[in-house]
Amino acid sequence: MSQDTILIGAGLSGLVDAILLAESGRRVLVLEQHTIPGGYLQQFARKRTVFDVGFHYTGSTAPGRPLGQFFEHLRIRDRLRLLPFPAEAAIEVRSGERSFAYPATFERFVETALATWPHEREGLERFVRDVEEVAAAYKWYALKRGVDYAHPDDMPFSQQSFASYLDGVIEDPWLREVLSFQSFNLGLWADEIPWVKHVLAFRSNFDVTCRIEGGGGALVEALVARGHELGVEYRFKEAVTKLVCRKPHVVAVETSQGERYEAELFVAACHPKVVVRALEQGAVSDLFREHVLGMKDSRGALQVFLRLTEPVTSIGATCVLFRDAEEEARTPPLGPILVTNPCAVERGDERGGARLEAMTYMSDELFAPWSELPVLKRGADYEALKGALAERVVGMLTKLAPELSGRVTDVYAATPLSDAWYTRNDHGAVFGISHDVTQQGRDRPTSRLRLKNLVFTGHSINMPGICGVFINAFHTCDLVRDDGGALFASVAT
Ligand SMILES: Cc1cc2nc3c(=O)[nH]c(=O)nc-3n(C[C@H](O)[C@H](O)[C@H](O)COP(=O)(O)OP(=O)(O)OC[C@H]3O[C@@H](n4cnc5c(N)ncnc54)[C@H](O)[C@@H]3O)c2cc1C
Repeated sequence: MSQDTILIGAGLSGLVDAILLAESGRRVLVLEQHTIPGGYLQQFARKRTVFDVGFHYTGSTAPGRPLGQFFEHLRIRDRLRLLPFPAEAAIEVRSGERSFAYPATFERFVETALATWPHEREGLERFVRDVEEVAAAYKWYALKRGVDYAHPDDMPFSQQSFASYLDGVIEDPWLREVLSFQSFNLGLWADEIPWVKHVLAFRSNFDVTCRIEGGGGALVEALVARGHELGVEYRFKEAVTKLVCRKPHVVAVETSQGERYEAELFVAACHPKVVVRALEQGAVSDLFREHVLGMKDSRGALQVFLRLTEPVTSIGATCVLFRDAEEEARTPPLGPILVTNPCAVERGDERGGARLEAMTYMSDELFAPWSELPVLKRGADYEALKGALAERVVGMLTKLAPELSGRVTDVYAATPLSDAWYTRNDHGAVFGISHDVTQQGRDRPTSRLRLKNLVFTGHSINMPGICGVFINAFHTCDLVRDDGGALFASVAT
C-alpha cells in the first residue's frame, strides 16, 4: 500500500504533524502501536472518574502567544474549552513554611517578584530582560514577522545550567529556589537544565495558564477530529517494527501486523530510540546508532491518583509544586511533588469527578525486577512497593490539604514502567531524551537525520512539554512543507 506520508506514533506530536501535513495536501497515514491515540495525553477511568496521565496544565494559550496561535491555525480553538487558572495564583510553589504564588501573566509576576524581593531589584530586572531576550530570539516561540531568526536547530542551547546563570544574578536563596522550581517542568533540576530551555519553559507558563475541560483527552479528540476532516487515516495496534532503507532513503515500514507501507516521507513522532532500533542494519553508521541509543533519557514519574468523596478546597491554586524535607531524606527520596486539583477550575465536567492528581520524578531503576513484565502481570511485590510509595504521597498531600483525610475513597498509582508500557518511551521518560546541559546542540537528534526522507519530531527534539511539542511539530512541518515560510506567516503576528 502506498501513501505520501507515514507518521509513526499518534501521541500529541503525531496528531499535530498529521494535520499540518494533510492541510498542505499530503495523504497521511498515522501508525500507532497502542489501541488509542494520545501517547502521554491518554487518560484512564476508574469507577467513572477520569484521570489524566501527562497533562496537568499548559501556558501560552492567549491570542498572540504560541499555543493560542497554534490552536487557531489548526482550527481546534473552538473545539476546546480552556479553563484559566486563578489570575493571582496560577501555580504555587511551597517549600517548608514558605510559599510563592505565580500569577497568570508575566507582567504581574514581575510586579509581584519586585514587591516580594525589593533587595534583588537589579538581579530580577536582569533576569526579566534575559527571559524576554531569549523568548524573542526563538522563532516558533516569538512568532513575530519580519525578524531574522536563527534556525531553531542552531539555537545556542548553551551548556550553561540555570543554576550557574543564577550565580551571577540572584543571591536570595528563596528567590533562587522559586525561580528554579519550574525546571521541574522539564524533569530537571536547576544545575542540570540549560538556562535557555529553562527560560523558554518558564516563560511559557504565563499568558493564560490553564487546563482544558475534559483534560488531555479533549485536546486529543479535537486533534483527531480535525485530522479526520482533512482525510488523515489512523491505524491502531500497528507498531512499526522495521524501517526498510535504500540509502539515503527510507522506502517502507513494516509493522507488528505484518503489513508493509511504502511512502515518500516518514515522520517519526515516537521516541527516537524506537526508530533507531527499527532502522535496518547499515542504514545509519554504527557510531550514530550507538550515540543515539546511548543518550540519557529524561526521568520517569511516580504518579498517584486519588478518588475523593468531595473536592478539596484548601489548595488555593490549581497546581501546587511542593517539597517535604522529611520525605526527601527517606529512601527512596520523594519530591518535589506537583499536585493538580482539576476540580478547582472545572465547571461541572461530568467526566471528571472529585479527584486529585500528584506526580514526582522517579527513576525506573527501583522497578528493575519487573521491567520485562507486562502491565497487570508484575505481581504482588511490585503492587506492594507501588502501594507503599503511594501511601507516602498521600501522607504528603494530607499535610498540604488536611481535609483530605476521610475523603479519599481510592488510590491508584503508576510508575515509569506503566508509562513505558503504554507509550514505548524508554524508561518511561517523561520528556523523551533528556534535555539536560550535557546533551545539547548538535549532540541531540534534530528534525533532520542522516536519511533524507525521515524526519523526527516530538518531545525529544528542541523543546518538550505540550507547548514544546506543538512548537516542534510546526518547526518540523515547516521544513517538510518547504512552502517559502507560509506556515510561519500563518501563525506569526
Ligand atoms: C506524568 C507526566 C506528566 C506531564 N505533565 C505535563 C504537563 O502538565 N504539561 C505539559 O506541558 N506537559 C506535560 N507532560 C509532557 C507531555 O505530556 C509530553 O511532552 C507530550 O505529550 C509528548 O508527546 P509526544 O507525541 O512527543 O510523545 P508521546 O506522547 O510519547 O507519543 C509517542 C507515541 O508514539 C507511539 N509509538 C511508540 N512506538 C511506536 C511504534 N514502534 N510504532 C507506532 N507507534 C509507536 C506511542 O504509543 C505514543 O502514542 C507530562 C508527561 C508525563 C509523562
